[in-house]
Amino acid sequence: MAHGSSKLTQSVHAGSPGDSLHKGTVNPIFPASAYDYEGPGETQYPRYFNTPNQRAVAQKMAALENGEDALVFSSGLAAIMTSFFAFLKQGDHAVLQNDLYGGTFNAVAVEFPKFGIDFTLVDGTKPEAFEQAIQPNTKLIYIETPSNPTLTITDIKAVGAIAKKHNLITIIDNTFASPVNQNPIDLGIDVVTHSGTKYIGGHSDLCCGVAVASAAHTKQIWNSAFHFGGSLDAHTCWMVERSLKTIVLRVRQQNENALKLAQWLKTHKKIGKVYYPGLPDHPGHTIAKAQMPGGFGGMLSFEVLGDPHGFMNRLKLIKRALSLGGVESTICSPVKTSHAKMSAEERARINVTDNLVRFSVGIEEVEDLIQDLEQALS
Ligand SMILES: *Cc1c(COP(=O)(O)O)cnc(C)c1O
Repeated sequence: MAHGSSKLTQSVHAGSPGDSLHKGTVNPIFPASAYDYEGPGETQYPRYFNTPNQRAVAQKMAALENGEDALVFSSGLAAIMTSFFAFLKQGDHAVLQNDLYGGTFNAVAVEFPKFGIDFTLVDGTKPEAFEQAIQPNTKLIYIETPSNPTLTITDIKAVGAIAKKHNLITIIDNTFASPVNQNPIDLGIDVVTHSGTKYIGGHSDLCCGVAVASAAHTKQIWNSAFHFGGSLDAHTCWMVERSLKTIVLRVRQQNENALKLAQWLKTHKKIGKVYYPGLPDHPGHTIAKAQMPGGFGGMLSFEVLGDPHGFMNRLKLIKRALSLGGVESTICSPVKTSHAKMSAEERARINVTDNLVRFSVGIEEVEDLIQDLEQALS
């Protein structure tokens, strides 16, 4: 089967216990926080990550990511930080890609030192840099690809192989790609995390996170998760399950729109650099093509020659917003949002200029998006 062809079916059907009472077509909401402890199997409780709606989402995500099991969290950062602390302890060292999502970077920089965990940041586009940073106490490698906001590409297979050679755990933030476009477990990564607030929710109306892995690694994350307690409530789980049923359709449309927009922006005289891994001149294009069989994603960024804020203010259809991954197109200035706390030198190093705007492409008619961009640029 071609990549993703079974995903359409899995996105609709995987992990649904169904409605045995009324024979309805969808999974009901099971809001109970109290369950019979004499019942079959382990006792269910929301902070045990094992209630019916939590399991429905976890099983659907495990199916979409080709993992054995998953845990659903109350935010992306809860999934990421819980995964870190499941595998790291005092005295350990981790190697992380340097252009991480700002929230992840801040959390690592503030929390790791408190627990005596050391880390090194390396250039994600150079797999050998990960190997060079490995120390005797290194336990884990963490990557994020495509990265935020300039969509750099990390060679997942190469990093996975280095980690296997040195017996290290690998964790990836797969938020930007979504499970539709990229499945890192197939490429040798141990744990796939998502900010489900983005493409998984997909409608800019909920906050959640997911970690997908083998059964054994999921159990290890669970051992920390039920202590840290970042579980998700039944109602939001049900919304996530509902959202996942259309993730393939949404992301395919976003892929298609983003590619057309990147090509269009590239030819516009008022636009400088365009960053999109689907463009043949993107430095990571060849690797992206190999590791993102479903498509290059709905995120792109570009430089506006002139005043980027005037341009954003003139947009009518495309909304200015901090988050991403929704069905509606949104735009933001990384300098004012995700990268505001970084020094100008640090920003320059990763190509985050004052003129850069990050675009989360929605599912609208692409001609309407082009028209909106055109009127705001002229
Ligand atoms: C939003 C985001 C996160 C954090 O997720 P929350 O749901 O806000 O906790 C992590 N990584 C990436 C790439 C994100 O975009």
